[in-house]
Amino acid sequence: MPPALLRLNQAALVIDGQTILEPVSFSVSKGEFIGIIGPNGAGKSSLLKLINGNQPLTTGDILLQQRSLSKLSSRQRACRIASVSQVSPPVFALTVYQVAAMGLLPHKGWFDVNSSEDEQHIKLALQQLGLEHKSQALVETLSGGELQRLYLARALVQQAELLLLDEPTNHLDVLYQHQILQLSRGLGKTVLACLHDLNLAARYCDKIALLHQGQLLAFGSPEQVLTAVQLSQVFQLPCEVKLHPVHGKLQITFFASGVWE
Ligand code: ADP
Ligand code: MG
Repeated sequence: MPPALLRLNQAALVIDGQTILEPVSFSVSKGEFIGIIGPNGAGKSSLLKLINGNQPLTTGDILLQQRSLSKLSSRQRACRIASVSQVSPPVFALTVYQVAAMGLLPHKGWFDVNSSEDEQHIKLALQQLGLEHKSQALVETLSGGELQRLYLARALVQQAELLLLDEPTNHLDVLYQHQILQLSRGLGKTVLACLHDLNLAARYCDKIALLHQGQLLAFGSPEQVLTAVQLSQVFQLPCEVKLHPVHGKLQITFFASGVWE
């Protein structure tokens, strides 16, 4: 078996004496799409912040291609890991092309100009995400779905191996929720995505990490993790898990307790 692309070894986070994440261990292989699920406050975003370096680890270690992330400079880290977390547009009047081009920043010195190869790279990324016709549009004119696609394009330009997506489907209509997950899966990258919608997680993830109150309760295939017993305990609602008759993936239905009685 090839070595893991990403490995968390007892990675834990304590802030001001409060345990945000108990020691978490799991491995991710190259090309896998991993969903991180759990109720609000479970520690999903904190886990991504440990991996992208926005939050230093309290104990444990995180290895990327067998190298401890703590040994990488922030620039080296940014060449390997791209994060997509915010959906609000930048405050400055920037074009779609300019925002995508920001993905090159970790690879450039202060006074470097973009080469024609860089420009090809940016164009290709915009094309892959279906935004080439919007290249000169101001980002503030984009829809939520287009903005999410632009942030993915910027992550592609960054040429990072690992993509961290924090709730990439938030504020998107159902069509764009599927589109953004299909696109993210199709980029040939290794992806960790925090997802609220368990049915989307079941549909698109190779593996799922279930967090609850800062603890990793389960890590494995959707079938291993998304069990009715486990989900009803964690989300505190009765729940039914079935195979969908058309696409064959798991389908999760929660019942408000009034309906259940
Ligand atoms: P999730 O993304 O699963 O909703 P978060 O990772 O954002 O959860 O937060 C997990 C818990 O950690 C929450 O109780 C949150 O208030 C707390 N938390 C997160 N970041 C900090 C911080 N920088 N300082 C103090 N508490 C924090
Ligand atoms: Mg969060």
